[in-house]
Formats: sequence, structure tokens, C-alpha cells
Amino acid sequence: MVTYDPIDRYAPQREHMIRHDLRGRDIRDARVLEVLGQIPRENFLAPQYQHAAYEDNPVPIGLGQTISQPYIVALMTQCLGLTGTELVLEIGTGSGYQTAILSKLCKKVYTIERFDELSVRAQSVLSTLDIHNVEYAVGDGSCGWQSPFLFSRIIVTAAVPRPPEPLVVQLQEDGILVAPVGDEYSQTLIQYQKKGQELRHIEICGCRFVKLVGKYGFPPSE
Ligand code: SAH
Repeated sequence: MVTYDPIDRYAPQREHMIRHDLRGRDIRDARVLEVLGQIPRENFLAPQYQHAAYEDNPVPIGLGQTISQPYIVALMTQCLGLTGTELVLEIGTGSGYQTAILSKLCKKVYTIERFDELSVRAQSVLSTLDIHNVEYAVGDGSCGWQSPFLFSRIIVTAAVPRPPEPLVVQLQEDGILVAPVGDEYSQTLIQYQKKGQELRHIEICGCRFVKLVGKYGFPPSE
């Protein structure tokens, strides 16, 4: 019999998400499943949206942005093949939910968000969860991290027309980059791997993200 912490009122919904929406599809990485089963997704949402935290769809987080569907968060994380030693660059901090998941599975996360307000909110939620292996930046993430670091993994959580060139430059040899690539209405989730001058790719599935607005993304809407 499954028993739930009476204070953790979302535990049954979280458990249902793991069993039905993640394991029930193709999420097989045990570490990814474990972490999604631990992080309280409701903490990343405004009170009026918390009831929808574990629904199988994206949820608004303000400023016209959304927290991605749990399955997509799990799938992208699984595609990164994290073992715990990696330095991960994340473009599009948003609510910070994906950041929190990554932080539990790698050495350190470097995350960039375009909106100061979202970054500040994410920082406060992660610090209440006692997550400290994250560096935050505000700006155009399509231009990469401000210092010339190399990352073993890069995740772009907003739609791009193609993998942004500065991110490809900041990806280590054999490193993996996951991004939704397409136009602003529909994209394909693609897993890239850097092999010398070549960028090998595997198409994962169709998806729909908000657009990455920036120099190597899309122009802002009028
Ligand atoms: N991973 C997030 C979802 C992000 S939605 C989560 O778990 O909540 C995509 C985010 O990318 C939005 O917050 C949006 O503001 C941000 N974004 C869009 N263009 C960007 C850019 N050029 N640089 C950094 N962030 C950007």
C-alpha cells in the first residue's frame, strides 16, 4: 500500500504523473523519475495555478511564458544522459522547475533567462528548496554564457529556428545539446551531439514551445 505524507497534499497527483504520464510513456531513466517524484512542481506556480501543477500540459507562469509539460521536462532531461558530473547550460530559466530537476542530476547548472522578474522568482523558489548548485544570469541566452566556458550539456527550453551558433561553440566535444527546433508554431525536439566539426542529430518528437527571443532566436513580436 502506498502511504502519503499528510502535509504533502500533492503527493498523490505527483505519483500519478510518474506512473501514468512518465513511466507510462517512455521515461525509463530511474534517476530522472526519482527526481521528478521529489521536486514539488506546485511551488513553481502562482497559487491560482497550483491545482494544475501535475496536469499533462504546460501552465502559465506570467509574462506570456509557460512551465513545460512534465513529460517534456522528463524527456529533455533523459535526452541529456546526466550522470552527476556535468556542467549544464540551460537557456530559458522560466519558473526554475527544469533548473531544479537538472540541479539534482548534475554537478552545476548555469541558467539564463530573458526576464529579470522570472529569474528572481526562480532563484527564490530554488533557495527555499535548498538548491545552491545553480548560477543565474539575465539576458539573451542565445548568445551563450558570458564567460567562455565549455559545457558538457546544453538544454534550450524555448523554440529556436536552428541551434544557436554561440551555444554550439560552447558545447564540449562529445557534448549533448537538446533543443526544440522549428518555426514559432511547431518544432521538433532534437538531440545533438558534437563530433569534431560535425553536429550529429536525432529527432525525438514533435513539440510546441514559446519562442526564444534573441539574436540567434526569433525577433520580438510587434
Ligand atoms: N524551463 C522553463 C520553461 C521555460 S519557457 C520552466 O521549467 O519553467 C521559456 C523561457 O525562455 C521563458 O521564461 C522565456 O522568457 C525564456 N526566454 C525566451 N527567450 C530567451 C532568451 N533569448 N534568453 C533567455 N531566456 C529566454
